[in-house]
Amino acid sequence: MLVVLAPAKVNLFLDVVGKRKDGYHTIRTLFLKVRLYDKLWFRKQASGIKISCVGRPVPVDQSNLAYKAARLLQQVSGTGQGVHIKIKKNIPVSAGMGGGSSDAAATLRGLNQLWDLNLSDKALMRLGARLGADVPFFLLPDAAAWGTGRGDRLAAVDIRRRFWLVVVKPPLAVSTREAYQALSDSLTKRKNNAKLLIYALNNSSLEEIGENLYNRLESVVFERYNSLARLKKKLSALGVRAVLMSGSGSVVFGLVANREEAQNIKRQLHSRHEVMTVRSF
Ligand code: ATP
Repeated sequence: MLVVLAPAKVNLFLDVVGKRKDGYHTIRTLFLKVRLYDKLWFRKQASGIKISCVGRPVPVDQSNLAYKAARLLQQVSGTGQGVHIKIKKNIPVSAGMGGGSSDAAATLRGLNQLWDLNLSDKALMRLGARLGADVPFFLLPDAAAWGTGRGDRLAAVDIRRRFWLVVVKPPLAVSTREAYQALSDSLTKRKNNAKLLIYALNNSSLEEIGENLYNRLESVVFERYNSLARLKKKLSALGVRAVLMSGSGSVVFGLVANREEAQNIKRQLHSRHEVMTVRSF
């Protein structure tokens, strides 16, 4: 039996710069892992793939990303070995926190070990990119990375400062596809400041960080779901200086300096939404 933790992520910057012939958008993004984890148990079985899940409900059939990762490994390696994967689902689903992608990455790493496949990191990365654009980031050992292409061409970014995050999950699921489809054809020409953001993350006040956080999808998702726009305003009104929607939503998060502040904001939110306080990597 093998146990692997699968962390969540937030995007501190997300610009959509183009659309590819295959329908995928090209993006420029800054990913940051956070200490909110799914837990996966891998147990060998003679053949086949079985998924079970506790915690937040996700499908346990062939559409589960852990299933897809295991199936892909069976196909490329030719192994006849099977596995039972149990997932404790802690990461909010369809929230922009990459939970499914992280489970897929954890499965690739876990089964490479459990099944003695000896695939290289590079080979796992390539398989990860086939499963989803966010999967390669979770295969990196680094806490933060700059992603281009579909978000799967990665360069590690050194963020030395640790933050606490107030993560708010409203009771609605935004589909990633829907959010991207709502983007108009005129893709952003915004002169963006990712370099300033990375500098600010290491050196400047939360206020300056807040000014440089950016998510191109925010406006289109907020237009459709007004409650998310109100939620962002509410966090700002409580004094949180750095607030952003993660990925395609629906999670909205605030960066704060320490745990006390995070818990203080959580107490004041009186929210019907689920609120979590988590530390960055
Ligand atoms: P991203 O930011 O990468 O778009 P997300 O956090 O918005 O990710 P996920 O929670 O990763 O979204 O996945 C959303 C969809 O994938 C849901 O429809 C869910 O049912 C499906 N899914 C399949 N397998 C998993 C899994 N292991 N964990 C979570 N969702 C899964």
